[in-house]
Amino acid sequence: MQQKVVHIEEQEEPPGCCPTNAFPFSNHPPSPTFRQRHFPLATDDDWHDWHWQLRNRITSLKKLGKLIDLSDSERQAMAFNGATLPLAITPYYASLISPDNPQQPLRRTMVPTLSELLVSQGEEHDPLGEDNHSPVPGLVHRYPDRVLFLVTDYCSSYCRYCTRSRMVGRRKSHSPARWQKAIAYIAANPGIRDVLLSGGDPLTMGDEQIEWLLSRLRRIPHVEMIRIGTKAPMVLPQRITPELVAMLKKYHPLWMSIHCTHPDELTPEATKACAMLADSGIPLGSQTVLLSGINDSLDTMRTLMHGLVKIRVKPYYLYQCDPIIGSAHFRTPVSKGLEMYQGLRGHTSGYAVPNYVIDAPGGGGKIPLIPETVVGREGNDLLIRNYEGKVYRYPDVIGAASRAS
Ligand code: SF4
Repeated sequence: MQQKVVHIEEQEEPPGCCPTNAFPFSNHPPSPTFRQRHFPLATDDDWHDWHWQLRNRITSLKKLGKLIDLSDSERQAMAFNGATLPLAITPYYASLISPDNPQQPLRRTMVPTLSELLVSQGEEHDPLGEDNHSPVPGLVHRYPDRVLFLVTDYCSSYCRYCTRSRMVGRRKSHSPARWQKAIAYIAANPGIRDVLLSGGDPLTMGDEQIEWLLSRLRRIPHVEMIRIGTKAPMVLPQRITPELVAMLKKYHPLWMSIHCTHPDELTPEATKACAMLADSGIPLGSQTVLLSGINDSLDTMRTLMHGLVKIRVKPYYLYQCDPIIGSAHFRTPVSKGLEMYQGLRGHTSGYAVPNYVIDAPGGGGKIPLIPETVVGREGNDLLIRNYEGKVYRYPDVIGAASRAS
């Protein structure tokens, strides 16, 4: 068959099509406009410096009220700031937040509302029972071959639905002395082959501190892989510096799980941060929490997953929101999550489909949520349903037939 040759250079760019490094999903002003208005004294160097971003975080009602038109619920919730999860938003991330729409997804993930103060049935401070699986402070050992190492309680920006809202932002000490106890535990348990550094956000620490941890862990022969869980590429992309990636690449195999919530986070800055990490050989996976009214529509989720693949982040986990205290307004029914999952699976590349899971309350670990695909059996035939709902037969090998082979 004769192939039709398409000359790419002759094709016109469709109207309204934006290049991949433009700000593709939101109508909010790009950072420079926001910056000139709210941080007029900040130079380019300031804005691109992660230390400046941390020093200038928005942490008070007064500062927040200057950036956005607060709703009554947001204003009243701020009176409790400190009693619940504290408020903190980097200037960069604040530039992505709508000043006038309290329902804008990114705004809802960062700005407290009165709903956070409502306690619903089944909600707990520590729904995953992490504190009960902690052999030494700052270490959670729940699965046989891997541990969660909580190296800091500090984040550059605090997500209102955070599983660890009971402990993050409390300025507890995470000193080398405490780290040493955790490292000693890992060294003394040869079954541990995988260490996940999390918190809090490990990438809010300095390069020297991170390297101190990585180098100590790398000296333990049975630690095969190290992972870092972070939201920095989305909320503080300035943190991904050439110096940081040059240091990280010395400690391969090193993997990174990036917390992403919504396509509006996939800005040119986040894209660049992920490219630098990927170029240094770090496999990137995403972790997304399913959130009511924020990302629980198939369109939004598909856009997010496709956007992540485009910036070389493999969609890894889609979590049902953990039942922390005051989370009812964030939680989506599992039936809706399954519907969305079904809308992705088979309808798009497998690389763009995350594992949809519930982290079982009480410490049961991650349990996959999978729509039923095995319909039944007729004789040796297995009846299976595809992504379009059609049923197919697979000639299964069972009993004597399988043993004969
Ligand atoms: S970045 Fe992670 S640890 Fe920090 S507040 Fe958000 S979810 Fe919690």
